[in-house]
Amino acid sequence: MVVSTKNKLYLNFIGGNWITSASNDTLKSIDPANANEVVGYVQNSRKEDLDLAVAAAKKAQNEWKKLTGAARGQYLYAAANAMEKHLDEIAECATREMGKTLMEAKGETARGIAILRYYAGEGMRKVGEVIPSTDSEALMFTTRAPLGVVGVITPWNFPIAIPIWKMAPALIYGNTVVIKPATETAVTCAKIVECFEEAGLPAGVLNMVTGSGSVIGQGIAEHPDINGITFTGSNGVGKKIGQAAFARGAKYQLEMGGKNPIIVAADADLDQAVEATISGAFRSTGQKCTATSRVIVQSDVYEIFKEKLLEKTRDITIGNGLREGIWMGPCANENQLTTVLSYIRKGIDEGATLLSGGERVTHGDYKDGFYVQPTIFDNVTTEMTIAQEEIFGPVIALMKVDSIQQALEVANDVQYGLSASIFTTNIGHMLSFIDEMDAGLIRINSESAGVELQAPFGGMKQSSSHSREQGEAAKEFFTAIKTVFVKG
Ligand code: NAD
Repeated sequence: MVVSTKNKLYLNFIGGNWITSASNDTLKSIDPANANEVVGYVQNSRKEDLDLAVAAAKKAQNEWKKLTGAARGQYLYAAANAMEKHLDEIAECATREMGKTLMEAKGETARGIAILRYYAGEGMRKVGEVIPSTDSEALMFTTRAPLGVVGVITPWNFPIAIPIWKMAPALIYGNTVVIKPATETAVTCAKIVECFEEAGLPAGVLNMVTGSGSVIGQGIAEHPDINGITFTGSNGVGKKIGQAAFARGAKYQLEMGGKNPIIVAADADLDQAVEATISGAFRSTGQKCTATSRVIVQSDVYEIFKEKLLEKTRDITIGNGLREGIWMGPCANENQLTTVLSYIRKGIDEGATLLSGGERVTHGDYKDGFYVQPTIFDNVTTEMTIAQEEIFGPVIALMKVDSIQQALEVANDVQYGLSASIFTTNIGHMLSFIDEMDAGLIRINSESAGVELQAPFGGMKQSSSHSREQGEAAKEFFTAIKTVFVKG
């Protein structure tokens, strides 16, 4: 398989077959580094395509759940091996669809493979515990049952890792899956599905239906035969999905936005803090849910930190992520570019000082891409829009505080609570941060972005529906506990 095939048509994957949508219509996935370049055409599916996929998943579920966890695990190992074989191709496709650098895309693909292997092994691990009964003649224990058919709705920012960190645990615990990826990165998803096909996964166990969020995404949320929905994306969409799922009694899990702070204490290693800020805020063009968005610095070191940050920002090379030496690619799509530029405008209008960047890059090779400069605002205060709302772009809001206590208050003064980071050498500050910071991921002397696949991942406050993904935590969502009481 070679990704450089242009204008390729990608079909839905339903019941083990690649199928054209009933609509006979397609949606375009384009390269954000060059909007004239089409990466692929994917199906603009209708509700009836989704119905077919759900029926296939429902039909396959009983046989799939009857397999041992070890047997299901073998399919996941085989899919991981297939992905390893196609790593370069998948990564290149992700860069072409989403814009992140090839190095990042390769790292993400390797992570996807590691996630598959982790969950393959999970098929051999415990699913319950024995609980002493008050009846001396009884045995009481818990076991776990799959939910049934699980709907997976994913965003474009991690087009490989997120689908896999949802599908792998869903599958290993005996569920069957219908996935609807973001259209912007649906070709990458098709390539992942191809790896499962190559692994010989039984027909109907994994199905992919591409299409618009309002038809296929909402269709998943409302489908009476989908028992669980796992979603990652924006808060507005997440809440709609949650409401639709709740209304019909389906289980749901929502991972949503962030407004992640980094606190830089006066005693911090400033060079380390600058490196982490640059990486957290600008890698993937700021389009990680855990990206650093607010940098809250103690006044004693504010000016020197700012100078160091500006100096390092100047070294950032922007361009097509496929090219050698490029550190930051374009925004993933035109909408995102427009959103980022409108937040920059708001920052200026509300009185923040634009220190660096702030503009779209359009000259020469950049003219057909969705490029924006890495941007730093100074004198940002908590009530400003750029201090409150998720931008999802390469924009830093610098905020000055006098004390760590004030830094914590500022850091917590948002609706989100996904990830938060502090740079300090003071153990007291570290402990206060662990205790008082409202975030699902607490990072000390490390950037706000960064997740290990074996650890729970998810946010507090408006960042999630309060469940956790990845690691063993995934078991909580993808299974239901049964308490068993046995008397001879
Ligand atoms: P989005 O909410 O626009 O789309 C996500 C998915 O939902 C896509 O597949 C989309 O087609 C679908 N969708 C759109 N409208 C729908 C509807 N009415 N019903 C059902 N599905 C619908 O998000 P995006 O722009 O693709 O991704 C960016 C967002 O994702 C950011 O807010 C980011 O913070 C968030 N995100 C969160 C995490 C996390 O783990 N917390 C990780 C990555 C991204």
